[in-house]
Amino acid sequence: MSGDYDLDLFVIGGGSGGVRAARIAAGHGATVAIAEEFRYGGTCVIRGCVPKKLMVLASRFSDDFADAAGYGWSVGAPTFDWRALVAAKEREITRLEGVYRTNLEKAGVRVMDGRAVVEGPHAVRLLSTGEVFRARHILVAVGARPSLEPEIPGGELGITSNEIFDLPEQPRRILVVGGGYIGVEFAGIFAGLGSQVTMSLRGDKLLRGFDEDLRDRLGAAYARKGVALRFGTTLERLARDADGAIAARFSDGSSGTFDRVLVATGRKPNTAELGLETAGVALGAGGEIIVDGYSRTLVPSISAVGDVTNRAALTPIAIREGHAFADTVFGGTPRMVDHEIIPTAVFSTPEIGTVGCSETLARQRTGEVAIYETAFRSMRATLSGRDDPVYMKLVVDARSDVVMGLHVLGRDAGEMIQLAGVAVTMGATKADFDRTVAVHPTAAEELVTMRTRAR
Ligand code: FAD
Repeated sequence: MSGDYDLDLFVIGGGSGGVRAARIAAGHGATVAIAEEFRYGGTCVIRGCVPKKLMVLASRFSDDFADAAGYGWSVGAPTFDWRALVAAKEREITRLEGVYRTNLEKAGVRVMDGRAVVEGPHAVRLLSTGEVFRARHILVAVGARPSLEPEIPGGELGITSNEIFDLPEQPRRILVVGGGYIGVEFAGIFAGLGSQVTMSLRGDKLLRGFDEDLRDRLGAAYARKGVALRFGTTLERLARDADGAIAARFSDGSSGTFDRVLVATGRKPNTAELGLETAGVALGAGGEIIVDGYSRTLVPSISAVGDVTNRAALTPIAIREGHAFADTVFGGTPRMVDHEIIPTAVFSTPEIGTVGCSETLARQRTGEVAIYETAFRSMRATLSGRDDPVYMKLVVDARSDVVMGLHVLGRDAGEMIQLAGVAVTMGATKADFDRTVAVHPTAAEELVTMRTRAR
């Protein structure tokens, strides 16, 4: 700690990015405090990745029961208890929250509860006690929140991903507004749990920005599962029925009745009323904090990492940015995070794993692109005859032979893409894939056995 300051670092926000930065900075010998206004672990642990994945896993048992019967098992009519799932999920995230807090304390970080706001380039106020701390550096890691926009009549009847994890009852009929990854994942969860699912989205396909073949095939798989897809529509109004249900009207004149309406149309950085403007921190048009490659704002003593900077809103990115910040400022090793190649999964059912360029983007970036692709039914579903599609695609720069993109739809796609992501990050060529011996019989072996160029 130096001279006029109480602390070397004050971290605002106890989520993925803030917690990592605080622990690493403390490990480098800095005196660090962190404040969290809700629950330690942040969005990912409390109301994002972790509870979402638990619910995805729960939803897939319906397929597993169907497959089991195909293998000779006699399975009685399975029943599902939503409240039991919510309670089990709550126990697990409470455990994780405790782990986060303990790890911070073990690292020597001063852990505070309550909202913190910036009061100057070196000053942070903890609102729960009114205390003001003078810190040599301030790290803003406050994340983002779901936005309920656009505002429509009856919009307050909708809920967001913040509320969905703790609903008292499983909705029998649910409308999901928005076709991004969060909307797609919850549609898959509730379809698997047996709810009637309707999706309303402005575009003509799910998952804008993803490879077109993934988008087409996921849409087709969802339609076959019975998800009602209303493409090219926006929600115009919601109203409460006499019997307590929610009546929805859409822009194409159609309507529907639902028990719950999940609005998953986007997220906004948590920068409102944080005191950033008074300290001179510049915000972008969407409220995100503008930073350079080292996560520095225009104010030298204030940095920002994670969703609040709207670079790539994913937990591993927030963690890397937090870690790189701490190494740069307190560890004497300046590091930037590469946002170019990001392997990622969408936990829809069927699942998606993707890394690198979509075919469309590859065609824009390079002269000639070679596409290799394969589609089949997963082996697991062959005996049950269940619909369980698998699709794989390699996008290759035809001149250099470098694999620019790799896309998988199907069971365990997320697990596959983590490993395939190593090869793509290393700049592997198609020839490298070809000389890799297949692991047989697996689905992933198809990634190294595609020999015929599709286009
Ligand atoms: P957060 O984790 O949001 O943490 C910010 C913290 O700051 C919060 O705890 C908040 O309460 C606190 N805070 C805000 N303002 C203040 C203040 N003034 N004072 C004190 N505390 C404050 N990413 C993946 O990689 N994989 C996934 O599968 C995935 N699934 C997701 C599913 C859902 C439904 C959602 C919503 C997100 C998902 N994400 C996923 C994204 C991931 O959760 C975020 O990218 C990640 O949590 C960002 O970390 P962060 O540190 O920037 O912010």
